[in-house]
Amino acid sequence: MIPFNKPFIIGNELKYIEQAVLSGKISGDGLFTKKCHSFFEKKYGFQKVLLTTSCTDALEMAAILCDLKPGDEVIVPSYTFVSSANAFALRGAKIVFADSYEDNPNVDPQSIASLITTKTKVIVPVHYAGVACDMEAIMKLAGDHNLFVVEDAAQAIDSYYIFADGTRKALGSIGHFATFSFHETKNIIAGEGGMLVINDSSFNERAEIIREKGTNRSAFFRGEINKYGWVDIGSSFLPSEIISAFLYGQLEHLDEIQGKRISIWNRYLEGLKEIVSQGKVSSPIIPTYGDNNAHMFYIVCQSIEERNQLIAHLKNKDIHSVFHYLSLNKSEYFLKNNVEIDIPFSDKFTDRLLRLPFYFELSESDQNLIINEILQFYESK
Ligand SMILES: *Cc1c(COP(=O)(O)O)cnc(C)c1O
Repeated sequence: MIPFNKPFIIGNELKYIEQAVLSGKISGDGLFTKKCHSFFEKKYGFQKVLLTTSCTDALEMAAILCDLKPGDEVIVPSYTFVSSANAFALRGAKIVFADSYEDNPNVDPQSIASLITTKTKVIVPVHYAGVACDMEAIMKLAGDHNLFVVEDAAQAIDSYYIFADGTRKALGSIGHFATFSFHETKNIIAGEGGMLVINDSSFNERAEIIREKGTNRSAFFRGEINKYGWVDIGSSFLPSEIISAFLYGQLEHLDEIQGKRISIWNRYLEGLKEIVSQGKVSSPIIPTYGDNNAHMFYIVCQSIEERNQLIAHLKNKDIHSVFHYLSLNKSEYFLKNNVEIDIPFSDKFTDRLLRLPFYFELSESDQNLIINEILQFYESK
């Protein structure tokens, strides 16, 4: 069976876990967590980074930092993972769903603009497949209406926004906050893991407190205060050193991981270019302002029936391909309290998008097998 995803080890992950354990400190914010923080701050120019136990936790921290009150509105794409919305629903916010572009699963700023009201507080762009949303348009809307922007950059490590003059800014460094995931399905993994990026330093102190159960323990450990206690709401969002040690082992090989993934991505595009140029399927859109971190290779089929037949065809050949998000406007939870609405382009990607197997150790021969089976499926179409 060729799986859809396969976690991998590339360097010193296990050695660093052993080191962490033998050092006598495996709770949070030890040596390896600090190494990871400074790695990300240096490499991507993030103002401040805090590792968390997941991207979901980082989103929940961002929602607390935005100080949402019940009734506040948060604009989230309908085509996204549950956590992009759930973190804000937990704070009592009303979730308002924006649509994708017709040819790109990312959220369309025009759809966002049409949904802004006096109650809107936050916009959550999700960089789908690691490809940038139109951050200039989104930051302009946020500036005009005094809104927070929380980038859900779960899939967007090592990806950039490219300005018209050619300058680049790492995704995650543009909004007020950004969240990343190191879940085993992402480019850089730690099993479960994530991080919050804070780009406005006025939130640094509160973010540390929220992450440490609502206490000022971080300042205490730095010797800035002589006792710590309960000063705010919060939870336990920090990962153990075991997670950070594994993650640091991966970070030391980030460029190699990314190079390999980009060659896998390019091989898919090259192998499938015939059926793309014949209009039988579409390949991912990378806008001029976007970069490709090779998080995912997907195709968009002509119909849900064709997409499902292709999944079945590949499964018959022991190849595991998967569809992706079920539009959140159609979710059981949303429909409990809301009437059903169509969000056409989000629904289109729900029905027609197919993700192909993609992992660091995917071999060229397995990939050729996958490509050939897809070409064969489309030969008769
Ligand atoms: C993976 C993912 C998440 C959740 O990440 P976890 O680390 O598993 O919490 C959130 N949003 C998007 C867009 C994702 O792809």
